[in-house]
Amino acid sequence: MAQHQFQTEVSRLLHLIIHSLYSNREIFLRELVSNASDALDKLKYLTVADDAYKGIAFEPRIDISFDKDKKTLTVADNGVGMNEQDLIESLGTIARSGTRQFLEKLAADVKKDSNLIGQFGVGFYSAFMVADKIEVASRKAGEDTAWKWTSEGKESYDIEAAERETQGTTVMLFLTEEGAEFANRWSIEDIVKRYSNHVAFPIYLTYDQKEYDDKGKEKGSVTKTDQVNDGAAIWRKNKSDLKNEDYVEFYKQISHDADEPLFYIHTKAEGSLEYNTLFYVPKKAPFDLYQVDYKPGVKLYVKRVFITDDDKELMPTWLRFVRGVIDSEDLPLNVSREILQQNKILSNIRTASVKRLLAEFKTIAETNKEKWDVFVSQYNRPLKEGVYQDWANREIVINLLRFKSTAVDGWTSFADYVSRMKEGQKNIYYISGGDEKTLRASPLLEAWQAKGVEVLIMDEEIDEIVLPSIPKYEKQDGETTLSWDIKCVNHVGADAELDKIDKQSEKDLKPLLKKLKSVLGDRVKDVKLSKRLHDSPSCIVTDENDPSIQMAQMFKAMGQSMPEVKPILEINSDHPIVTQLKDCVDEERIADVAVVLLDQALLVEGVRLSNSADFVKRLNRLLTAV
Ligand code: ADP
Repeated sequence: MAQHQFQTEVSRLLHLIIHSLYSNREIFLRELVSNASDALDKLKYLTVADDAYKGIAFEPRIDISFDKDKKTLTVADNGVGMNEQDLIESLGTIARSGTRQFLEKLAADVKKDSNLIGQFGVGFYSAFMVADKIEVASRKAGEDTAWKWTSEGKESYDIEAAERETQGTTVMLFLTEEGAEFANRWSIEDIVKRYSNHVAFPIYLTYDQKEYDDKGKEKGSVTKTDQVNDGAAIWRKNKSDLKNEDYVEFYKQISHDADEPLFYIHTKAEGSLEYNTLFYVPKKAPFDLYQVDYKPGVKLYVKRVFITDDDKELMPTWLRFVRGVIDSEDLPLNVSREILQQNKILSNIRTASVKRLLAEFKTIAETNKEKWDVFVSQYNRPLKEGVYQDWANREIVINLLRFKSTAVDGWTSFADYVSRMKEGQKNIYYISGGDEKTLRASPLLEAWQAKGVEVLIMDEEIDEIVLPSIPKYEKQDGETTLSWDIKCVNHVGADAELDKIDKQSEKDLKPLLKKLKSVLGDRVKDVKLSKRLHDSPSCIVTDENDPSIQMAQMFKAMGQSMPEVKPILEINSDHPIVTQLKDCVDEERIADVAVVLLDQALLVEGVRLSNSADFVKRLNRLLTAV
């Protein structure tokens, strides 16, 4: 027998599970059954796709049994099984890619985050909530030796050679005092029905039933085995035969999410292409949504045979939060995972699935604001990715986007914006480059606010990439197409609709602008009089095709090369600082004010100053001179 140490993360996970998931202990059975079902899926695939496995006689099934007296509970499958190496890799380390990130997210404070743990499937290890010892006997399909993995869920586990007649895995739990309640026919049946009814393989429960004679006297007992789940693939059933609970239960099984889904879409396609799809959108964005190595959420089946759950091509990347199943009748069963990518049938199913999802998104967005707000709070960013990834569906996705705004609380759309527009307003305006608080306080908004013009607040980094790619918003009004330009108030040209600058002050201030420009030199692209300022003395804008200064600074901080972006300084011709400076002849004072006007405009936009000491020195000199 060889003893092995758990990977550090496993020990941490075990500790967390045992100490914080207690209120929901029964899910251990769902996790073990899901693993068994995955193992059956894998072997079924091999027996149709791989010649080496074709000879295996295989009636996929899951068997649960228990012994009340010995306080054991056993879950067995005749699936793909594990050899010694698999046992070490799968049960000694963290197999699920998201788990590690999840653990990192879960800081030291376990109590606070126990909800978070509940939302997250913890897999095999959850069995340690009810057992103080687990034995896993397994034999890999196609191999002769079986192995036994044993652990008490502390720091280590043992592996030794063992006996098992056929391929598959038997997980035996030695239940704790408290866990012993699960060694009972009724609770097992109840848990399986609740959590695993739609596992697509039969789950059998073996139990002893007492027998009585005619007089009602106990005369012994017989061992019985009943199928306790439905055992048919839910996605192939008719919608009319399914209840909401059925969909929810299946979702929890495939997603490891403890929460209900936000919504689901079940489609049966018949005609030139035959397939079934069942898609779910989780209420909360998956943990790994923004990780490059995210785990795709859609499983591919061909004629009920599981093919893969690890194909990122099944859904466009921007829809990577969708969970569910695609089951095709037309793909060949032995389709290799490698050639799936170029497969025409699959790409047609994918296109149709995206259309179906978008149609549902559209309906919800138009008819159920509350639900759509939840969606947007979780998935607005992936939707924005969709705007520039999915050209075919771009218009639809643009209409699904929601934004924060200076005019209303909560989320709003382009369509809502134009419906609120003032008579004669030609453009849609937005501000970007910073967090919401900074943007809302930006002097750039002053003139628009004074005129009562709504400005959308774009506070996500992705906005600066996506919004410039949407120059116009178009809307059909009967026969005519209405169209509005979308303009960024941070950009120099966005002020065309604002009031003109008075000719006289333009003339009067010309010399000052020249002076300021020469003092600031190559720190600025230009110095201009501003139409957008009301209360503030100055602001910065950028040229039409330049990114915002904040964005340029962020890229630089990430070590990306980027041509230097220079701001255009705009000053407020009515502000006392500016009017007083007009007649000033003190060159040093003009220089000091010039720098302070520029630097304060940068600061208020959340830009870091590269020479703050100079700013402070000049500011102090100005304050002393008063
Ligand atoms: P997950 O199932 O999410 O990958 P688990 O911790 O539940 O995470 O299981 C880890 C791994 O152990 C699985 O990915 C699988 O490779 C293996 N495994 C678990 N149970 C079985 C089983 N009954 N048959 C075959 N392999 C299994």
